[in-house]
Amino acid sequence: MPAESEPPHADQGVPCNSQLATLDSENVIENLRVRHAADHVYTWTGTILLAVNPYKNVPGLYGEGAMAETRTSKLLRTPHAYSVAERAYRQMAREGTNQSIVISGESGAGKTENCRIILQYLAARSRAEASLVEQRLLAANPILESFGCAKTLRNNNSSRFGKLVKTFFDAENKISASTITTYLLEKSRLVFHGEGERNYHVFYQLAAANAAGDTLARELAPGAAATLAYLVRGHAPEIGGVDDLAEFRNTVRTLQLVGVDGEQLRNVVRVLGGVLDLGEVSFVENDQGQAEPADAAVVRRAAEALGMEEEQLHRCLRTRTVVSGRGSVFTVHFSGAQAATARDSLAKAVYERLFNWLVQAANQSLLVGEGGSAEPACVAAGLEEEQRFIATLDIFGFENFETNSFEQLLINYCNEKLQHQFLCHVVQQEQELYRHEMISWRHLSYENNSDAVALFEAYPTGILWLMQEYARLPSRETAQEVEKKLTRRIHAAHRCSDHLSVPRTRRGNALNSDDGFIVRHFAGDVCYSTDGFLEKNAENLHAELELLVSTSARECVALHGSEAAEPQRRKSGHSGARRGAGTTRTVATGFMNQLNSLVQTLQLTSTHYVRAIKPNAQQAADRFNGQLVKKQLDDSGMPQVLTLMHSGYPTRCPFASLYDKYRPRAPAYMAALEPRVFIEGLLYALDVPSTDFQLGMTQLFFKGAGKMAFLESLLESD
Ligand code: ATP
Ligand code: MG
Repeated sequence: MPAESEPPHADQGVPCNSQLATLDSENVIENLRVRHAADHVYTWTGTILLAVNPYKNVPGLYGEGAMAETRTSKLLRTPHAYSVAERAYRQMAREGTNQSIVISGESGAGKTENCRIILQYLAARSRAEASLVEQRLLAANPILESFGCAKTLRNNNSSRFGKLVKTFFDAENKISASTITTYLLEKSRLVFHGEGERNYHVFYQLAAANAAGDTLARELAPGAAATLAYLVRGHAPEIGGVDDLAEFRNTVRTLQLVGVDGEQLRNVVRVLGGVLDLGEVSFVENDQGQAEPADAAVVRRAAEALGMEEEQLHRCLRTRTVVSGRGSVFTVHFSGAQAATARDSLAKAVYERLFNWLVQAANQSLLVGEGGSAEPACVAAGLEEEQRFIATLDIFGFENFETNSFEQLLINYCNEKLQHQFLCHVVQQEQELYRHEMISWRHLSYENNSDAVALFEAYPTGILWLMQEYARLPSRETAQEVEKKLTRRIHAAHRCSDHLSVPRTRRGNALNSDDGFIVRHFAGDVCYSTDGFLEKNAENLHAELELLVSTSARECVALHGSEAAEPQRRKSGHSGARRGAGTTRTVATGFMNQLNSLVQTLQLTSTHYVRAIKPNAQQAADRFNGQLVKKQLDDSGMPQVLTLMHSGYPTRCPFASLYDKYRPRAPAYMAALEPRVFIEGLLYALDVPSTDFQLGMTQLFFKGAGKMAFLESLLESD
């Protein structure tokens, strides 16, 4: 960690982009390139921290020494994730206000790593002696990673969910509890993942442990990863440099640490085995085209592992009961393909419930602390009122692939919303500071994306609401027909919108206007295909499968999933979202509620931003692709921030810093002046044009960019 007083060298870049002579994207990227080559991971842009993934361990960057340096630093000018955590901590302690740290960036950029680094810092920062809550807070991470991360083409440890970790502090600023909220686990990965990708890590860990004869895994796992249907799709059972067996032991140890032990732990392993067993169920069709499991013994094994009645599972995989308009009940037999869909839906639902149950188990252990037994939601609600917190958000970045579907739509809606929050916050915070300090300024204008947010959530024609409307249609039509209708309806409702258009040919893959739509996001145009929207948006399984799951003998499956990952009792503040109450809940409107609640939380905190950046697409150290970095800076709204900094007063310093330094050397008549007048005299003596700065009530403000070096020279000269 470079010392704070170290002057910037030409080949080291500058630690804050506002020190650049010209503050534009090109110079910012060049600065990042130079800093990346010199192993400087972090760079400020004003108060926003940019973190360029080094894809290697940088000696001395983290750990006790760097933490101690941050803790004792006066000005916290060193760009570092620790500095962000410390700023949040100090502000919380000083003002008694809640804080949040929003970490964003595309897949593989380093969000989860930085989140971990920040939580480690916070745990160490407030430690009198290592407490159980702190240990559990750090233990929750490996659990979430084992069950919620997977190898993708873009990241060997890609988080397939978003998370908000709230760390609560008591009156002495010590960690007292913590809660985790998760968002949108990618369920589809359970049953399908692309070539070169894997299912969730935990399955391969279990398979490795099974092969090694581990007692827990040997009894319960069905076989080696190489042969299991749900695990072989991507033909990539191993990740270079990762020891799945060692990871299994780590997962088990951390599960035990949060209280999932003994029979509960065995049940978790059984359920994982049961999910894999479901994947092994294949179907044959009889003469009437009705599906039958090819091997009844596999169904028996799955039923036993999942705590379900074999006979019921067998029935639900082959048939469903339909009630006609006149009330008569009849049984519909599935075709082979329909049976496979039912099997996969069941596997996805079981895994989601298991995931949510584990999050809840971690929350329970994090809330009640040592030996307590209070009901978590109540404890959390109480904490919200009594204690201050620092919330750390590790959330999926903007996505734009060759083919974009429901998942990308929700992820990009989330990014649109957070971008809106980010811009409002940065601009508003800036103007509030100017007002508070009583300096005169011209209104700071910026490109707002509220129209794009409204395209999704405005009631009743926002895309998410229309999706809900069509989810409820009692229809004899096929899903594809309804999806086409929905698509046409979306086009009709937003015909005049600047943010929505009909699909155009994209590298030869033309979509018809009733197959999809293009949304103009702040980060670029994305073409969405509506194929599969209906099924993905349906919150519930068909009634009998739902019953099967909720009556499972395994507690970690039977618990209703969607509420489990929410530790607090939420009061939705979004009027649009509330209108959904009482109607069919869909994944999209459920997510909208969650997101509105998240934004509400952020609005009530002082927010600190970390923008994680991926320097190359190969996950390689020492490679820097300027184009790729530019795209990410654009996607994170950096151009707007640079414009703001350009037109505002981005360089500032408290009067006291200059006053304390220069007063002892000033002539007596100057030393007698009060700080504000003293600083004015000092700048006059230094020949600084009066158009370059303004004096606030407590701080000195320099106009435009490029003044940081001058200020530093003032602060650091002998
Ligand atoms: P996703 O959206 O796919 O979850 P992410 O932004 O969370 O991606 P990470 O998993 O945090 O990305 O980072 C990807 C990999 O990059 C890590 O597994 C690690 O190898 C490396 N990495 C990230 N940040 C750092 C860092 N500060 N120091 C060293 N290596 C890092
Ligand atoms: Mg991640």
